[in-house]
Amino acid sequence: MSQKKVVVIGSGFAGLSAATHLAKNNYSVTLIEKNESPGGRARKFNHQGFVFDMGPSWYWMPDVFEDYFAHFGKKVEDYYTLKRLDPSYAVVYGEEDVLDIPADLNEFKAMLENIEPGAGKQLDEFLAQAKYKYEVGIHDLVQKPSRSVFEFTSPKLLVDMVRMDIFQSMSKHVRKFFTHDKIIRLMEFPVLFLGETAENIPALYSLMNYADIALGTWYPMGGMHEVIKGMVKLAEEHGVSIRYNAEVEEIEIENGKARRVRLISGEKIEADIVVAGADYHHVDKHLINPKYSNYSEEYWDKRVMAPSSLLFYLGVDKRLKNLKHHNLFFDEPLGPHADAIYKNPRWPEKPLFYASVPSITDPTVAPKGMENLFLLIPLAPDLEDTEEMREKYYDIIMERLERITGQDVRNHVIYKRSYAHSDFKSDYHAFKGNAYGLANTLTQTAILKPSLKNKKVSNLYYTGQLTVPGPGVPPSLISGRVVSNEVMKEINS
Ligand SMILES: Cc1cc2nc3c(=O)[nH]c(=O)nc-3n(C[C@H](O)[C@H](O)[C@H](O)COP(=O)(O)OP(=O)(O)OC[C@H]3O[C@@H](n4cnc5c(N)ncnc54)[C@H](O)[C@@H]3O)c2cc1C
Repeated sequence: MSQKKVVVIGSGFAGLSAATHLAKNNYSVTLIEKNESPGGRARKFNHQGFVFDMGPSWYWMPDVFEDYFAHFGKKVEDYYTLKRLDPSYAVVYGEEDVLDIPADLNEFKAMLENIEPGAGKQLDEFLAQAKYKYEVGIHDLVQKPSRSVFEFTSPKLLVDMVRMDIFQSMSKHVRKFFTHDKIIRLMEFPVLFLGETAENIPALYSLMNYADIALGTWYPMGGMHEVIKGMVKLAEEHGVSIRYNAEVEEIEIENGKARRVRLISGEKIEADIVVAGADYHHVDKHLINPKYSNYSEEYWDKRVMAPSSLLFYLGVDKRLKNLKHHNLFFDEPLGPHADAIYKNPRWPEKPLFYASVPSITDPTVAPKGMENLFLLIPLAPDLEDTEEMREKYYDIIMERLERITGQDVRNHVIYKRSYAHSDFKSDYHAFKGNAYGLANTLTQTAILKPSLKNKKVSNLYYTGQLTVPGPGVPPSLISGRVVSNEVMKEINS
């Protein structure tokens, strides 16, 4: 019998993961990518000796990556070299008020104790719970396809879910352990990766604190894109055929079955199974006949999207001081910025922002004596994105960065590229120009997320940061594996 043909749409972490798992299991896989290079939101670009990662920069949960490669009999070291960062990152609370977060747990505890007597001991209990959540969450919950509530009804899991405070907010949970504002902000920071503030994220996700504090912040030498490079190599080693500059215009469906994809060029590629790793909304609303859509526009409009972002990729012609590899500028209160993202969408008056300087760790990402500087402001999706606004916010955050770190930066910027909503839309067909997909709120968790399977088309599946398990690199890797398991369960190779 000939192998079943799978077309995977999109070469982000999720698409690459799904394609490779299926190819390993004897499906014939073609991966179709609209852009000229792989990685989706984790692409990179070069400019005169600067190498810019375009999206993710935090490498957390190294065990998830190890697990990924181990599944194919490989190790992370077969593809890239990791370095643990120390300090993990710096939190800037104000001028001369900066915390370097130590990688060592005992030093971390001592730092907390110094801010709030007793907090070091509290951390032990907080982390013990977070570890338990991490183990159950990452090794069990997120591996579920979440297609039926019955997946979650085993007595052990129900007990586990109660223990995991699934219904309490992260904000309340953190305040049960700590009282000092600085510690609260530090402990609430990791869940921002999940696309909402701590008030609206279930306390299950203190597992992110375990990832942060216990498992550490790592960096793949050469940049985050090295992970994509490794995944592409692995995919090709398993026979995945990758087509770049190939945009899918339609998934052709006949009698409730996806039969082929039609590219913008007019070329048609036959398929027994289609796995869509492009943004879910784009696939559901633009690539299939509306009668097969899983969800209405109204449904999509009501989803809480994770933020979009305004990004700057900067080449600086000197070394920078008083900055670490990762720097969180929390020198303004989170409340009004969060309001501008989630409640009353607008450009924030005083944005918090993130600055990354990977050239501090890695001399290969900037020319000698120079610095690679990446700036990110989280923003509400769907804002009007103009050149004037980008420039206005460049000046706002640069003024603060220069003042707080005590140096002139703007006059040393020799390369500058900005990136925001309209780029996310044109490069990735991102719904409302989102950067990180769908927020992991309680009402958008597990079976309440957009389903990984089309309800009317028996061989059309979805993967990626808008379906289970959620946004971020590790969940996207897992998403590809979960969807491929579903395909294998339902359609033999
Ligand atoms: C600025 C930024 C910073 C981030 N920081 C972090 C971080 O530090 N750590 C972390 O863990 N996560 C981070 N994330 C989130 C993480 O990058 C994403 O969750 C993850 O990369 C999403 O992968 P994906 O495969 O779901 O989607 P994508 O990467 O978007 O892949 C989808 C692919 O589909 C392609 N496509 C779309 N439409 C079509 C079509 N019609 N035909 C063919 N191809 C199509 C797109 O071009 C794209 O390549 C960040 C994201 C951004 C944007």
